[in-house]
Amino acid sequence: MQEYQLFIDGKFVPSSEGKKIQSINPFDQSIIASVECATKPDVDKAVAAARKAFDEGPWPHMSGDERSAMIKAVSDKINDTFKQLVTLEVMDSGSTYRKAKEDVYLSARNMYYFSKLASRDLTEPVEGLNKPGFSQNIIVREPMGVVGSIIPWNFPLKMAIWKLGPALAAGNTVVLKPSEDTPVTAMKLAKIIDEIGFPPGVVNIVPGYGHEAGEALVKHPGVDKIAFTGSTEIGRKVMAMASETMKRCTLECGGKSANIILNDADMEMALDGSMYAIFYHQGQCCEAGTRMFLPESIADEFIEKLVDKTKKLVIGDPMDKATDIGPLVSKKQQDRVLGYIKKGADEGAKILIGGKKPDDEKLKNGFFVDPTIFSNVDNKMTIAQEEIFGPVLSVITYKDVDDAVRMANDSMYGLAAGVWSKDKEKAKTIARRLRAGTVWINEWHLISEKAPFGGYKQSGIGREFGIDGLKEYTEIKHLHIDEVGEREKKQWYDVVVPKG
Ligand code: NAD
Repeated sequence: MQEYQLFIDGKFVPSSEGKKIQSINPFDQSIIASVECATKPDVDKAVAAARKAFDEGPWPHMSGDERSAMIKAVSDKINDTFKQLVTLEVMDSGSTYRKAKEDVYLSARNMYYFSKLASRDLTEPVEGLNKPGFSQNIIVREPMGVVGSIIPWNFPLKMAIWKLGPALAAGNTVVLKPSEDTPVTAMKLAKIIDEIGFPPGVVNIVPGYGHEAGEALVKHPGVDKIAFTGSTEIGRKVMAMASETMKRCTLECGGKSANIILNDADMEMALDGSMYAIFYHQGQCCEAGTRMFLPESIADEFIEKLVDKTKKLVIGDPMDKATDIGPLVSKKQQDRVLGYIKKGADEGAKILIGGKKPDDEKLKNGFFVDPTIFSNVDNKMTIAQEEIFGPVLSVITYKDVDDAVRMANDSMYGLAAGVWSKDKEKAKTIARRLRAGTVWINEWHLISEKAPFGGYKQSGIGREFGIDGLKEYTEIKHLHIDEVGEREKKQWYDVVVPKG
């Protein structure tokens, strides 16, 4: 069994209170690692190290190109340890092998993109003010300081990269708190950062529980910004706690994304794409297409084909490359998903397939839930309004497009949505009416590192990725440089200055 220590101030150290987290393989409940568990004193040490590295260290003052080279080295080392990271991600989180492989590949690629961003000069002139003889005005972007990053368990390595990359590119120092359920690959990342030789304190990684390490980080007066990804429920709490010290906050939270099929969609493509939208990573994705809106005219045929295809999904050992559906991350998540399925049935929705744990004896120790499709769903039902975060699809029929758009927007969430149609212009018009941060047309889950990603409404605040994502990690400074030159010609000369 592997053992991991906290990474604080460039050193691997035990936790102050001797607490440990056991990482459990969701496929068979074997213990795969023991990880030191941070509590408040450890967070205090990590913030102190990050503070010192920011206030006194070289990192914020290094050139963008120098920072870029170190960030790129992380990307290179992820590629060098590719196989090991994939295996650990599967065992720690229950990701299927195929999904974990893509995650590690994208983690390296995303980090490479952030390394390029580090070299970007974000300085902008203020148009219209810099008249000759008056003043020059420029906007410069500066790092915020110490960033506290808190991440969930569904994409452990990728989420760590999405937080570290832009924060470091902009010149901040970071205290990263991985999820208590999936701390292992973040600790491997700590090893990579140590090997590269980042200045001590620039990156600190402290896995721990949300109510202990998480809250200590959010409340800490030495932290300038909180970058949080997780549920909307905890996101609200984080925002409230951060308000005490007026920390900047970006929140990437939950979703209940509407997947609208138009009657002129390419049916086979829409079927496959919709299955990917909901069943990818067992539905444990913030942007999963959990609410399917089907026109009444094609609903029966579409649903029949969807159920047939769902029967063919391979549920099994996530290490097996043939597996489509692995276990959920934990017993807690399995119980939560089964609880929602019961609630859906109790409220009158009809289970067309799934709705239970698999019957296969070989899977009995894993936290599995069969891919589940509900029909007869009303958009007001609990299963259509609350985030389940499991392989559970709600199918809702609609009469016309206005009806579909109205129901799609009738949600407290607004993270993503999708429209399937052969008529892309029509689909674009509908996409513009959907209140969501990303809308895919004939596609799903494609999140580009170059395009901003984030939520409308209670799906979050702020954006990740692209230049907008980088700017979220900067303060704006206006530099006003006098060009008048002569004392008597200054605007204030007639206002308060005594003459003579
Ligand atoms: P969660 O909200 O339970 O936990 C997220 C993180 O917050 C964990 O590290 C946890 O330890 C920490 N935390 C918990 N309580 C805290 C507290 N009181 N103070 C500070 N930190 C605390 O979410 P989860 O179950 O780990 O992940 C699933 C959720 O994440 C889903 O809602 C999903 O939609 C969301 N998510 C969103 C995105 C996005 O980009 N919008 C991406 C991935 C996951």
